[in-house]
Amino acid sequence: MQTSFTAEQLRDPDTAASNQVLRTCVHCGFCTATCPTFVLLGDELDSPRGRIYLIKDMLETGRPATEEVVRHVDRCLSCLACMTTCPSGVNYMHLVDHARAYIETSYRRPWAERSLRSLLAMLLPRPWLLRLALLGAGFARPLGPLIPGSGMLSQRLRAMLKLAPRHLPAPSAVETPREYPAQGRRRARVALLAGCAQPVLAPSINEATIRLLTRLGVEVVVARGAGCCGALAHHMGKHDPAMAAARANIAAWSREIEGEGLDAVVVNTSGCGTTVKDYGFMFRGEPEPWRGRAERVAGLAADISEVLTRIGYAPTRDPPGLTVAYHAACSLQHGQKITAEPKALLRRAGFRVTEPAEGHLCCGSAGTYNLLQPEIAGRLRARKLGNLRATRPDLVAAGNIGCITQLSDGGVPVVHTVELLDWMAGGPEPTALAGVVATA
Ligand code: SF4
Ligand code: SF4
Repeated sequence: MQTSFTAEQLRDPDTAASNQVLRTCVHCGFCTATCPTFVLLGDELDSPRGRIYLIKDMLETGRPATEEVVRHVDRCLSCLACMTTCPSGVNYMHLVDHARAYIETSYRRPWAERSLRSLLAMLLPRPWLLRLALLGAGFARPLGPLIPGSGMLSQRLRAMLKLAPRHLPAPSAVETPREYPAQGRRRARVALLAGCAQPVLAPSINEATIRLLTRLGVEVVVARGAGCCGALAHHMGKHDPAMAAARANIAAWSREIEGEGLDAVVVNTSGCGTTVKDYGFMFRGEPEPWRGRAERVAGLAADISEVLTRIGYAPTRDPPGLTVAYHAACSLQHGQKITAEPKALLRRAGFRVTEPAEGHLCCGSAGTYNLLQPEIAGRLRARKLGNLRATRPDLVAAGNIGCITQLSDGGVPVVHTVELLDWMAGGPEPTALAGVVATA
């Protein structure tokens, strides 16, 4: 694709990077077939190619984002299915991230929307604030269906209350920074990204991860100072808070690298994993030592399924006789290109594994998408649940808390893959499976 940026515009490193991305697109349109919003809405402007044209025009003219551009970019899930399909290697992720940051600084959203986005950006990365908010939302949950109106604000309020868990788990000891020693001979030392929303919604995921890794001879450190990966702010175009969160993690893990050393930074929320693996790009324009540190951390980042494959996983219990429908989170399959490992590990653990039709399509979770675009997210959820249930599973496994929350209450239990692997290696049965095992 030809671009017409001026030399002055190309002096901006973000514009120069987007120019490179735009020039690799040959506007073939292959990506449209696998784009969830194009599949649902059938509008070229809600396809990757359409958005690429809108973003190109916005950046080239250098004008503030228009309502039309904002509407279609906001509807993008950042699921990155288009990157898997694209034969030309277009890095749509970097392009849309730049577009979102550009929109954030050049477009004034209506007051209610600005407030909501600021509220989410403040709440979600802070576990104690999120816990308070979810406790309140849990009490108000029954009032959700009573909220009148069909406007976006009413839809969003209903979606938020619906997603609030009925019962919030108690805080877990693994939220506090500390070291978990390896059992037996130490084979490796890793940092675990404890995360922000996940330990509030499902602390059992980090607990299972630590149990499983330490049992396999891996020392795990939850580093002091590490927290939210920055993805939630990053995907809302909020550049400064995203960089601040990433910087805190890079500093915390660099201290570990330079201290006792790290063999990996383990991430068990694939949405976060995609962002941590992109820290090198995010910090490309930063002065040293940050640029080098960010690259080093990004190079060490690994999904839990990659780490378990690398060090070798073996179950200790008999096969449970359960069929698991594997839900491939977009951030895992499209963002990190990890497709085989989770299924192979589940099979090794003794589960029968099925895969749904349209496995490449997003479930509608996508960070804050299910809160900000509830109508599209709801349609994608229903479609995904239908495809998962059609494989007649006893349960669903996924590697991302966002997907787990989005698909819960859909008639089949949804569990993180690592909880199943831990269970089959001697850990406790995941609480979401209560009643399933007895009836299977
Ligand atoms: S598939 Fe790739 S090259 Fe083709 S239109 Fe989509 S982004 Fe552009
Ligand atoms: S990231 Fe997903 S929703 Fe956005 S354009 Fe690509 S395929 Fe479509």
